[in-house]
Amino acid sequence: MVIDVKPRLAALRDSLAAKNLDGLLVASTDNRRYLSGFTARDELLTETCGWLLITRREAFLITDFRYQEWARQEAPHCEVKVYKDSLGAALAELLRAGGLRRLGFESAYLSVRNYQRLTEIAADARLEMEWLPQEGLVEELREVKSSEEVTAIRKALRLTEKVFTEVAAWLAPGLSERRAAWEIERRLREEGSEGVAFPPIVAAGPNSARPHHHPGEAVIRPGEPIIIDMGARLEGYCADMTRTLILGEPTPRFREIYTLVRQAQIRAEEGIKAGLNSVDADALAREVIVRAGHGEAFGHSLGHGVGLAVHEAPSLSPHKDRASTLKAGSIATVEPGVYLPGWGGVRLEDMVLIHPDGAEVLTELGFYEW
Ligand code: ZN
Ligand code: ZN
Repeated sequence: MVIDVKPRLAALRDSLAAKNLDGLLVASTDNRRYLSGFTARDELLTETCGWLLITRREAFLITDFRYQEWARQEAPHCEVKVYKDSLGAALAELLRAGGLRRLGFESAYLSVRNYQRLTEIAADARLEMEWLPQEGLVEELREVKSSEEVTAIRKALRLTEKVFTEVAAWLAPGLSERRAAWEIERRLREEGSEGVAFPPIVAAGPNSARPHHHPGEAVIRPGEPIIIDMGARLEGYCADMTRTLILGEPTPRFREIYTLVRQAQIRAEEGIKAGLNSVDADALAREVIVRAGHGEAFGHSLGHGVGLAVHEAPSLSPHKDRASTLKAGSIATVEPGVYLPGWGGVRLEDMVLIHPDGAEVLTELGFYEW
């Protein structure tokens, strides 16, 4: 994928102007990639492959010896600054040279320790400046996808569906959840996925009542629900898909719960469109499940945005403090679920592309039909 970061930087600079900020310090791995093209990923909270400083006119990628070649190759629109002693000291120099007074930073990603170090270094250097916490400045830009981003996500979904189909045919009673999860991961990687979008979830029997179960030694048995939640990653972009299956003859209870969850999903997929409030989007599916008497068993949000991160804006949540208006061009999951402790659960997760007049279901894999 050819990524042009220039319009992204221009859009961010509009936001900086609107907030009267002289610059933004970017510590998030995904935001760094989005704005610079630099694909390195931070694996630990306490280590970084580099930070971006985006000012009204300039863009710097501050990194160390290990990443300098890589950064220069992938981030031609950033001036790569290689620090020797400390990232903080290198940043302070840039802040002084640029005369920056009002600096935004990503409060969700800059650790308390790093914040303390940076502000101390800036104070020691007698920089007269304000540190202004920001949330969602870049995430808001990432919410609406370009056609190249949509294409990458579609490809990641096709690969996800292919591997799911293969593994579903291979699954057999007696296999452990962990073995099945490894089979998913192995096939994803062998068929071209850049690792996994997230560690696959395989939850068998009563474990399927735990929405984010970690696969363990529990064994797959006929007649019990099995939740599989998985996603490939291609060109940096994630897929996210869940299907619930059962080996052998579906039990009457499985059919009942599965049909209910599918009806809730269809209701949401038919009703979601740009301009709708995200709380109302969640309610489309939730009302179906509440009416059937299982409201308490649907304890998570209806969905979330997907892109470079497997969970990003928008949030299709019942909580008003996370409410937003759905935007055309954003991609979100629609994943209602019903979880009954002791028995298990059913979750069905599609991805949709939101248009002005409706939602296009990107997931092509089908469902049980009785
Ligand atoms: Zn998922
Ligand atoms: Zn999801």
